[in-house]
Amino acid sequence: MKAVYLTGHGGNEVVTLGERPMPARQAGEVLVRMHAATLNRVDLYMRDSGAGITHTLPQTMGLDGAGVIEALDEGDHGLHTGQAVLVYPAVVCGTCEFCQSGQEVLCTRMRLLGEHRDGTLSEYISVPARNLVPMPDGWGFEEAAALGVNHLTAWRMLTSRAQLQAGETVLIFGIGGGVSLAGLQLAKAMGARVFVTSTSRDKLDRALALGADAAIHSREQDVVQEVMHLTGKRGVDVVFENVGAAVWDSALKSAVRGGRIVTCGATTGDQPGADLRRVFIRQLQILGSTLGNLAELQQLTQFCEQHGMRPLIEHTYDLDDIHAALDRLASGQQFGKLAVRIRG
Ligand SMILES: [Zn+2]
Repeated sequence: MKAVYLTGHGGNEVVTLGERPMPARQAGEVLVRMHAATLNRVDLYMRDSGAGITHTLPQTMGLDGAGVIEALDEGDHGLHTGQAVLVYPAVVCGTCEFCQSGQEVLCTRMRLLGEHRDGTLSEYISVPARNLVPMPDGWGFEEAAALGVNHLTAWRMLTSRAQLQAGETVLIFGIGGGVSLAGLQLAKAMGARVFVTSTSRDKLDRALALGADAAIHSREQDVVQEVMHLTGKRGVDVVFENVGAAVWDSALKSAVRGGRIVTCGATTGDQPGADLRRVFIRQLQILGSTLGNLAELQQLTQFCEQHGMRPLIEHTYDLDDIHAALDRLASGQQFGKLAVRIRG
């Protein structure tokens, strides 16, 4: 079967589209014929380094995806052959204290598709039945695929972690990437007032068209000053952050007293100054988050259906154009998810 796999680390030359053996379906697993996947920042990390992530080469890339069930065991999993499903990317142990308490996103033995084991950029994958969620009716496979990583991450950040309430204000740094855009869409649907930042006027305009309440040009404007102006010198309730060191100081200064700063990434550096005095005097809450639980993916899927909300896909590439898709992701120019069509 065809798959996109890594033969080493460092640039597109280690990314190969070619034949890999069909996955051998184990008991309890479901064989899925993949139709689409989307790219995530971590795909670039795996391509270029993979340091600190236990894996063996060659390894198939891709964390999220959607497809159609080809084969499965009979059981009470509620799935059937021919069903369209999207993939939850974390394969967990099911027995550690975190799995037992429904917080499998903290599983000590978690293995992620495309990081620790073969991923979704493949004609077939075999995963435990619990890793599949029925696709919303009428959705494209690309849209459904996009829920599994970026939207799930944004959902957990805003709900379980930041506990966002309708009527609150949210500041989202670096609009355009998958998690930030998901954050904008979700926070608006939850009834929040949302401000976004970017160094691109074009991205700010597009975010406004998507419903952002204010757009701040982070090179031409002082983000903290603008936030204070927009909130009557109060600050925002929630700062939604995945940019890291370049904006951390502004993130701390933009939050209201007692505000929540939720972070899931550090693209520009992960060792910013901490300004602990500001953290304790203003009683800020700094919340880390990554991915989400299966139950959260199920809630997110329902929420999207209820609110008629779908992930924004910038472009869908053919599998043959995987290098161009990865280049686009690396450019940081995209506004929306970059999808890959596996089956036309
Ligand atoms: Zn576990």
